[in-house]
Amino acid sequence: MPELPEVEITRRGLLKQLKGRKCKGAMVRETRFRKPTPLDLSQKLTEKRLLDIHRRGKYLVWEFDEGVLLSHLGMSGVLRVLPAGTRSVQKHDHIDINFGDWIVRYHDPRRFGFMIWLPTLEAAYHVPEILSLGVEPFSEQFNARYLKESFSKIHSPIKVALLGGKYVVGVGNIYCSESLFRAGINPKVPACKLSLKRLEALVRSIKEVLSDAIEQGGSTLKDFVSAEGNKGYFTLNASVYGREGGPCPVCGTKIKKIIQAERATYFCPTCQKN
Ligand SMILES: [Zn+2]
Repeated sequence: MPELPEVEITRRGLLKQLKGRKCKGAMVRETRFRKPTPLDLSQKLTEKRLLDIHRRGKYLVWEFDEGVLLSHLGMSGVLRVLPAGTRSVQKHDHIDINFGDWIVRYHDPRRFGFMIWLPTLEAAYHVPEILSLGVEPFSEQFNARYLKESFSKIHSPIKVALLGGKYVVGVGNIYCSESLFRAGINPKVPACKLSLKRLEALVRSIKEVLSDAIEQGGSTLKDFVSAEGNKGYFTLNASVYGREGGPCPVCGTKIKKIIQAERATYFCPTCQKN
């Protein structure tokens, strides 16, 4: 499943190639997604200039000189930029957006993603799914005081509280385990019990883990712009995630795996304190 770092890398790749370009329309081969593709999508896009692409959580907000394309990659979506005239359409290549010399190809086997059209940026940011998102991990709003306040009555384990995306977006299952490891926090500690100082370490770790993933993924996905590009997602170079029974990279203790809210958590029982 594409996580925030993949979406951010996708955003940067798209912008680098397409910023300022005029759209020439779209080829829609499939409309049945989490939200149906508007039948007039091609018409809406035609002759609109792409000014910018913003990211909110895992949503991409494509700002045109008139109107906004809102997209999500769902469980299995991939967006790639291909040279115009790339004809070899594969199975699950559902939508092509034409930018003259380049096309953006949306591939999504499970079709939990979508592309919809909205009249303005304001309308896009007022879609209910976007309104209900937690704060952005790289924003100034995301700080220890904010978490201290948010968690004041939250007795569930810190891992479970973070993973829901209610307080901060982008901390998926892998990133959650990795951030707690870096911050030296046991994933079972009730969220409300963490001191401001430990929350500071946690905030710092989350920002670091996500930026490392973006940097690492950016180099793995350097063939983003290519017809033959790798369609897979990158795997994070994890310290604890997926390493049950292996040695902790810091102290050598065996990494433990537990299940929390039906998701696997990996941690070092020595480095990560209650
Ligand atoms: Zn350790």
